[in-house]
Order: sequence, then C-alpha cells, then structure tokens
Amino acid sequence: MLAMVVDKPGKPLRKVEIPPARPGPGQLSIRIHACAVCRTDLHIVDGELTQPKLPLIPGHEVVGTVVELGNGISRCKLGDRVGVPWLGWTCGTCSFCQNGQENLCDDAKFTGYTLDGGYAEYMVADERYCFPIPDAYSDAEAAPLLCAGLIGYRSLVKAGDGKRLGIYGFGAAAHIVAQVAKYQQREIYAFTRPGDEQAQRFARSLGAAWVGGSDEMPPHKLDAAILFAPAGELVPQAMRAVGKGGIVVCGGIHMSDIPSFPYSILWQERTVTSVANLTRRDGKEFMALAPQVPIHAEVTTYPLEAANEALQQLRSGNISGAAVLTTSYCRHRKKMI
Ligand SMILES: [Zn+2]
Ligand SMILES: [Zn+2]
Repeated sequence: MLAMVVDKPGKPLRKVEIPPARPGPGQLSIRIHACAVCRTDLHIVDGELTQPKLPLIPGHEVVGTVVELGNGISRCKLGDRVGVPWLGWTCGTCSFCQNGQENLCDDAKFTGYTLDGGYAEYMVADERYCFPIPDAYSDAEAAPLLCAGLIGYRSLVKAGDGKRLGIYGFGAAAHIVAQVAKYQQREIYAFTRPGDEQAQRFARSLGAAWVGGSDEMPPHKLDAAILFAPAGELVPQAMRAVGKGGIVVCGGIHMSDIPSFPYSILWQERTVTSVANLTRRDGKEFMALAPQVPIHAEVTTYPLEAANEALQQLRSGNISGAAVLTTSYCRHRKKMI
C-alpha cells in the first residue's frame, strides 16, 4: 500500500510502498477512503509533540471500509463504513478509565501518534474505538467530524451553557462548533488572526454575530470562549473577554507558553480549563447530533500523496474549513449532502 510516513520530526513526510498491517485479535483492517488533516498532525510532524512512535503513519480522522476481521470481532462486519478517531486504545482498569474519563487513561494509545494512522491506503484499528459513519455524509465530509468535530464538541460542552460564545482561531474545529452552537441558539463571537479577511468572511458565512481580530474586545462580555488557536497569549486575552463566572476552554493539544497575567482577570470565578482527547461517549453523542444539526463540513481535498502540501497549507493558515486527504477508494470527493 501507499503510505506517507514521518521518519523524523522536522522532515517532510516520505512516500512509501509497504505491506498493509494484518489485523490482530479485536482489530479491523480498514481500506481508507479519506483522512482529514488536523493541527495535531502538524504538532507531531514539527516535533512539538515529543512522544510519537517512529517511523509513524500520522492521521486520526479516518473514514474507510472494513475489509478484514481479526479474531473476536463482534460489532463490525465486512463492508461496514467506519471512522477511526484519535483515541485508539485504553487500559480499562486505571482510575480514569473506571470513572468515565477514558480520555485521561494513563496508558492510552493514540491513532496517528503512538499507533499508525490514516495517511495511507490501509490501516488496522481496535473495533471498540471505531464509530459508524452517518449515511448522510460523504467520505471526505465525514472525516473532519472525527476530530475537529469531536474535540470541538467536547470543548463546547466544557464551555457550559452560556449564550455568548467566543471562538478564537476559526479553522476546522471552529467551523463545526459554530454550527452546533448556532443550532443550540447561542451567539458566536469569532476571533481570527488580525486582518485575516478570508477567515472573517468564513465566520460571517457561518452566522457569527460578531467577527473581529484576536487583539480586539467583543462588544459585550462573553459567557465562555474556546481557543483553537495554539497561541498562549490568547488565554489572557480571552479571560478579559469573558464576564464574571466566564469559562475559557483551551481546545488544542499543544499551545505556546501563556504569559503571566493579573489575578483580576481570573477573579470573580472565571475558569480556565483544557480539553484532552475524547471518550467513546463523546463520539456516540456527537455522531448522533451531526446529521440533526445538520453539520456541513467545508472540505478541501488533496490526494494522499500531497500530504506535505496539505500540511503546509494548514501551517500557513490558508485553509477554510478542513483539509482532507483522499485515496483512490474515496467515493465522493466533494460533499454531497
Ligand atoms: Zn485532531
Ligand atoms: Zn486507563
């Protein structure tokens, strides 16, 4: 199979022809149709996340078809269309797993980081962590739901029920969260890089009540803000933008250092928190919600071999919505709902 491989962080991915992995007990072999490109992939490729398996096939927003079953498979059958997310395996026995916080499992394994992922034509995955894909979605459009959507949804839940919601960084996750937030009748305040007119137009097209630069203050105090931009200096900025009791959620896996800030912007019971990984429950809830909203993922597709180009476009902030790598098995390159 064709795969795009990280040999060493800081280097471009290398195109290789290798035999597909065979499924072990409890695993599915999946023929990959589409895999979305996440900012986390960039953090891995650029060496900001320091514990990848190497060499590594990245990618954790994978849509494909089950083509082989390992021993002991009970839920999936050949031909099922499934999605493979970031959470690839958990121990089931640590205190976090026992308490419904498998996203914090001490020994968790992650697709496209500590397990090989979806920048390839085939992969294996533990069936217990795969999700069925709603029929309404094409392969390419479903792929970003698996991380941008899921982590965005978890961030939104963490942000509480407040009506006025700020979103910093208007990329793949933000554009999905904005649709869910609108569905929940919230007002969206979109903060982009100062002067980024393309992102601001995009935010407006998704119904944002207010759009501005991340260096600006919104016209009203916000109830909550979610940060998808990996820029630590935005944390105090967001804390200033939320009112008393406000919640600031950091939705990314990596962020530059947060500068020191005066206690007054945390005082009055403001909360700063982060979102780590996902649970299978998040996945079930979100995949049921997506067709109801209905969420439309804006996607730009690239052939698998062009993974380096897609990563570069994401790095330079040139993508509206989500970048998705497609293989020759991808059934609908464009969105169809
Ligand atoms: Zn991701
Ligand atoms: Zn565990």
